[in-house]
Amino acid sequence: MPALINTDVVVVGAGIAGLSAAAHLVKQGVRRITVLEASNRIGGRMRTQPFGSGIIELGANWIHGASLNNSVFTLASQHALLTPYVTLNRMEGYCYTEDGHAISTDVTEKVVSAYHQIGKDLEESDSFKTSYVSYEEFVDTRIDECLSTMRQSDQRDAKAVFNCLKNRDRFHNGSDLGDCSLKGIGIYEELPGGEVKIPGRGMEGIISVLHNCLPHGTVHLDTEVLTIQWRDTSSNNQIKIVCSNGDIFYADHIIVTSSLGYLKKHHRSMFVPPLPTWKQETIDRTGFGTVNKIFLEFEKPFWTRGRGGVKFAWTDKEAEMKSPSEWYKRIFAFDEVLNNPNVLVGWIATEAAVHLESLDVSEVSQTCIEFLRRFLSSPSPEKPKRVVVSSWKNDPWACGSYSFCAMETPNDFANQLMDPVMEGRKPVVLFAGEATHFKWYSTMHGARSSGLREAERLLHFYNVSSHL
Ligand SMILES: Cc1cc2nc3c(=O)[nH]c(=O)nc-3n(C[C@H](O)[C@H](O)[C@H](O)COP(=O)(O)OP(=O)(O)OC[C@H]3O[C@@H](n4cnc5c(N)ncnc54)[C@H](O)[C@@H]3O)c2cc1C
Repeated sequence: MPALINTDVVVVGAGIAGLSAAAHLVKQGVRRITVLEASNRIGGRMRTQPFGSGIIELGANWIHGASLNNSVFTLASQHALLTPYVTLNRMEGYCYTEDGHAISTDVTEKVVSAYHQIGKDLEESDSFKTSYVSYEEFVDTRIDECLSTMRQSDQRDAKAVFNCLKNRDRFHNGSDLGDCSLKGIGIYEELPGGEVKIPGRGMEGIISVLHNCLPHGTVHLDTEVLTIQWRDTSSNNQIKIVCSNGDIFYADHIIVTSSLGYLKKHHRSMFVPPLPTWKQETIDRTGFGTVNKIFLEFEKPFWTRGRGGVKFAWTDKEAEMKSPSEWYKRIFAFDEVLNNPNVLVGWIATEAAVHLESLDVSEVSQTCIEFLRRFLSSPSPEKPKRVVVSSWKNDPWACGSYSFCAMETPNDFANQLMDPVMEGRKPVVLFAGEATHFKWYSTMHGARSSGLREAERLLHFYNVSSHL
């Protein structure tokens, strides 16, 4: 039985970072803990919902890295959430060009392996640490080198596959590659073990496991924190937290896990007094992108099961998105959905993903079918029965999808986002959430590890030793 720790802790946000922090503190003996969640559900950017004959994930979809260093992978394994074990092949299916031609697997495989090598070279090189070029500049130079070594007759198709992979990368980064700094890509650490899906209940299973560790009533839904008065002398030296529903809470420590997108929009009004200038600048200068998903449910599949993936490989002259009305050019692919046989999911990122949110679902549906028919050179894709489109940019509490290191972002942005606001040696306002993880930012495991890290910071302050 751990010793009781006599302190009041408030956690802002019931996403994986907030729930991980709260669950760890409860386990270690902090009894007076409250989680305040603005929306009417827990999970934040992990959002599973029923659709078709199964479930879909509007947010996080799989675990990046089946490795013991991945705190989401270990949690899911401990709770038997990975059975049956399903790994992901991101390039399943075929690449098609806009003139309805399927690119040979030989060319596709060569290009995928060359692209993979570009990423590996970047990981292994030190030059990115001092580099001020964009990721796109770096990748384009390497693509040109690679194309020059290929047979002339393969070059058009190869370039189209590279364009498709660049769209995939835009999804991974949530931004245009020209806005992404090379150093940021280099700082991010890829965990080994491949990508793993969560069958059964999906991400909801992980969120429930964490929620179940908390005493009943710990999480208050529909409770948006509006202001955090962290130097309030009138309230017993405690932090005063004012919420949108009129509730007021007092705490000795507050762990803020709001997304970077939310902080960008609200930090000036949220913190009283304002955060230190260095912190404000890092919030303003770190990138926060938008990715979205389009789910199409069909009466019956028009694809052969296991080979449904349709990768959109625009040939060079067509690949450029000249205006947001050409949003469909940023769709990387339509893929099959695990245990949901009549559903395909399309992936889209950047300003195109933002524009998508302004469109009527019927327009999205019609455009997707037009392009599926055109790329497959087949009339067989019929109008979908139902369509769901995520809208992370307009989600008032996410304000986008995930963080990235932009050209103007400081090198050690995650450390600066993470650093707590102190009163003497007491950490008063602590920060967790995916953007605060120095090498796994943008991921669930980065978010969970950041929550555990801030819980540990508090335990250390109270001289409690614990094992993660
Ligand atoms: C489309 C998409 C696909 C993704 N795919 C993957 C993937 O495949 N694998 C992967 O590892 N990661 C993926 N991610 C990223 C992953 O989902 C996030 O990194 C992670 O879930 C972030 O968790 P978090 O706890 O930091 O933030 P959040 O999940 O955003 O949680 C923060 C919580 O705080 C609440 N909140 C915000 N402000 C306030 C306030 N003022 N008062 C009270 N509550 C507040 C929010 O409502 C939210 O519930 C994806 C994300 C998206 C959007």
